[in-house]
Amino acid sequence: MRSSNVEAVVLKVMEYREADVIATLFTREQGKLRGIAPNARKSRKRFGGALDLFARLTLTLRIREGLSRLEEASIVSLSSHIREDITKVAHAAYACELTDILLPDGMPNLRYYRLLCAWLERLDSSPPSPADRRFFEINLLNILGYRPELGQCPVCDSPFDGTKPLTFHPSAHAVTCRNCAGAGIAVRPTVPPLLRSCLSTGRFGTISFSPEELADAGTILDNLIMAHVGKELKSLRFLREVE
Ligand SMILES: [Zn+2]
Repeated sequence: MRSSNVEAVVLKVMEYREADVIATLFTREQGKLRGIAPNARKSRKRFGGALDLFARLTLTLRIREGLSRLEEASIVSLSSHIREDITKVAHAAYACELTDILLPDGMPNLRYYRLLCAWLERLDSSPPSPADRRFFEINLLNILGYRPELGQCPVCDSPFDGTKPLTFHPSAHAVTCRNCAGAGIAVRPTVPPLLRSCLSTGRFGTISFSPEELADAGTILDNLIMAHVGKELKSLRFLREVE
């Protein structure tokens, strides 16, 4: 079997046997995969400490179903500033766990790869911010096809113009105008337009939310993510503790 060269982000690392490492990677070329790096904890030459959480690497590997074989790695970015700050670690760990759960094995997704790299770069270079987290999440839902309608009420088609009161319906994964709402959670009219802006700018740090808007965006995004993940993630509990 031929070796392939890929670029990847390290999502999860597990020590295995005496000196091996098993890593879960999100690769640009092959999507998510798991690989074993034989003797990685002894061979600094082939892996050079590259198989660290949140690191971005170039890798030579032999793709195999189930467990690929990692042959060599070199570091593109270690994201070392993330590791100096527990809140940054919590954000990065949550992003990596979401990636591990929501992205299927072996399906490349270049847009998502770029988003994940941009989020880790942002965390590495700037203080962690709740607005950036929500920016990441709405882009993740959008790329995976899980975004709710943010431009108009899906029931009566009236546009979300930033002034009319709105309601979020967790069980329907939808935001409607107040007129079309049965029971649900009130959200500020400006929130869907703000989330829409997060999808059109493509750059972290460009959209600002008030604390109230951030809380409403959090209600919508946490509910939607929970609906697709199907369980409470350990990394989310940790993130809530450190925030
Ligand atoms: Zn409506």
